[in-house]
Amino acid sequence: MTDNINRLLVVDDQEDILDFAAQVAESMDYAVALAASADEFYARLGEFGPTLIVLDLQMPGTDGIELLRYLGRRGVRVPLLISSGMDSRVLTSAERFGRSVGLDISGVLQKPLMLAEFEAVLARHRRVERVLEPLEFARAVDRGQLVLHYQPKLGRTRAGWQTCGVEALLRWDHPDLGMIYPDRFIPLAESSGLIAAATDWVLQEGVRQVGAWCAQGIDLGLAINMSPKLVTDLDFPDRLSDLLAAHGVRNSSLTLEITESAALEDPTRTMDILTRLRVKDFGLSLDDFGTGYSSLTQLYRMPFNELKIDKSLGMDLGKSREAETMVRSLVGLAHGLGLKVCAEGVETPTALDFLAEAGCDFAQGYHVGRPMPASAIADHFASVPKRLASGG
Ligand code: C2E
Ligand code: MG
Ligand code: MG
Repeated sequence: MTDNINRLLVVDDQEDILDFAAQVAESMDYAVALAASADEFYARLGEFGPTLIVLDLQMPGTDGIELLRYLGRRGVRVPLLISSGMDSRVLTSAERFGRSVGLDISGVLQKPLMLAEFEAVLARHRRVERVLEPLEFARAVDRGQLVLHYQPKLGRTRAGWQTCGVEALLRWDHPDLGMIYPDRFIPLAESSGLIAAATDWVLQEGVRQVGAWCAQGIDLGLAINMSPKLVTDLDFPDRLSDLLAAHGVRNSSLTLEITESAALEDPTRTMDILTRLRVKDFGLSLDDFGTGYSSLTQLYRMPFNELKIDKSLGMDLGKSREAETMVRSLVGLAHGLGLKVCAEGVETPTALDFLAEAGCDFAQGYHVGRPMPASAIADHFASVPKRLASGG
């Protein structure tokens, strides 16, 4: 086994794909092992000890599903990316299958592999020398190393799309490691119980910022992400109202985005608190709908007023008929239940036009605007209605 802490194993029967993957990954300091058949794969898995696997679904002799089952049986916990040239529905069901056998499927790569996308995936999974410790995160909260970036959210009006709010996304500006993204520290914060303090900070800072924008004549709604496990404190709705009042922000300007991440300890209590939040006019959004973490039953039982379609669907608009059908149906479903709909992962003008035509209420994504520091939001706010005024 090499002592490189980043080890990529690529399984593909196409020589050119293997070459391409090896070149890109090595240039990003990965150690790379290649397997052109299932047998080679079984052998490399043990001897190489990959930290990331890219697996082709279509291999002569064995199909990728068998390999996924094999990995599941072996209890492999290495993040895995499924690659294939097959249509996205097949990819999605393979992804679901992999998760059902306990694998850490971190995404799918549509073939032909795109350099930028592949590089982004490798960058996201690249581990730095040091493992982050809970104590370090606790200090980060105290020492002011947490930072909020804001991603604009568009609302559809008769006059076209207009910026109507922002989603606050947490980053950790680490003194040695640079900017660290939530995928790397939210699990740590959740398992160590530090997520409560972090969420408190996000609420304080986000609401203060929106209050400050409002005072400058920029009226923006604020969405923050919140683990439903934190919704256990019966006083929370009142404390939240007080916080907003202190900054002159209306309750209706704040939306809490919630994902079903785990079984709730006390669902009745959570439901009670969520209902009181709605009664007080806060928004409640079911985040990441369509990923398998957020379910239909939740949508139907809990008092949400917005459904947020996961970025994996939004990113496929204009590329996949299936994704378009799904989004259209979800818009209908949400509207039928009296909910608004927001689509995430809007990366192209085509996707935004599709959403206008499908009757989607809100849109968010790199085409609309990337997450950015607070200071960049005012400029963005001034420029967007002109840039994106199509559809409506
Ligand atoms: P999320 O709430 O679904 O946030 C959207 C994520 O998608 C963000 O990643 C954002 O940068 C990314 N994104 C937005 N538009 C696009 C696009 O067009 N294409 C692509 N490929 N990606 C896009 P980020 O900031 O890394 O956040 C990841 C997740 O971390 C969030 O997913 C949210 O679940 C969690 N998170 C972020 N901030 C907080 C927080 O303050 N508290 C909690 N509990 N979780 C947070
Ligand atoms: Mg969110
Ligand atoms: Mg989401």
